[in-house]
Amino acid sequence: SPIVHLENVVKTYGNGTTALRGVDLKIFTGELLAIVGPSGSGKSTLLHIMGLLDRPTSGRVSLAGQDVAQLPDRELSRLRASLIGFVFQQFHLAVGVSALDNVADGMLYSGVPLSERRRRAAWALERVGLGDRLSHRPHELSGGEQQRVAVARAVVKEPAVLYADEPTGNLDSASGSEVLDVLRTLHRDGTTVAIITHEHEVADAAERQVGIRDGRVVTDVRRGT
Ligand code: ADP
Ligand code: ADP
Repeated sequence: SPIVHLENVVKTYGNGTTALRGVDLKIFTGELLAIVGPSGSGKSTLLHIMGLLDRPTSGRVSLAGQDVAQLPDRELSRLRASLIGFVFQQFHLAVGVSALDNVADGMLYSGVPLSERRRRAAWALERVGLGDRLSHRPHELSGGEQQRVAVARAVVKEPAVLYADEPTGNLDSASGSEVLDVLRTLHRDGTTVAIITHEHEVADAAERQVGIRDGRVVTDVRRGT
């Protein structure tokens, strides 16, 4: 069964704009997929709904087999914190805080003690190729390195799915490739990854590409990478 399942999801905003017009999408455990579409096609809206940051106007959303429609907001937050990792275009790292503690803070609400969070953070940084940067603060790191810290922060809690929203949008192409390589490595090691992008070159990093246009899924293609 899919880890994320959207059925006939419609989203109409308060001003009458319909951003999603009946989206059906299944994300399976272990997949690396890209959701690709032009500006205004509904990607952010879809990310917000898949990420339990917003609710659909109609249709069904389930995460790990659980229909989330009936859950109160605080329960959605709890599910989101434990099951979903996010990486955004902006790195969203804490200024003046070491890479290790930025990543350890990714599990702040997990109940895991600090020493264990730091141990796992060191391992997550190792996985993104930053095992030699643990005590560096964000301003001492390149953009690509900062984004890899953000990736480590998102995966340290071992989320059921990792959403990367335009993860290379702030990076030069060499750093962007490094970040995509890291996402591919995490995928190879078992992490479920969905990349949201308007760039076909970024989408090409994924083995499955879901095309979205005018609030609808218009293509869904699996290919070798
Ligand atoms: P809602 O209207 O469903 O409560 P929000 O609280 O997210 O939605 O947004 C409030 C208002 O801000 C919207 O109704 C809209 O007028 C405006 N808005 C926010 N983001 C956008 C956007 N990306 N495109 C157009 N309008 C936007
Ligand atoms: P994308 O991420 O692909 O650019 P969005 O989901 O941001 O697409 O936007 C899809 C459509 O919904 C656009 O027409 C946009 O202006 C509109 N939209 C997005 N957010 C809001 C909002 N909060 N309120 C009203 N309209 C919105």
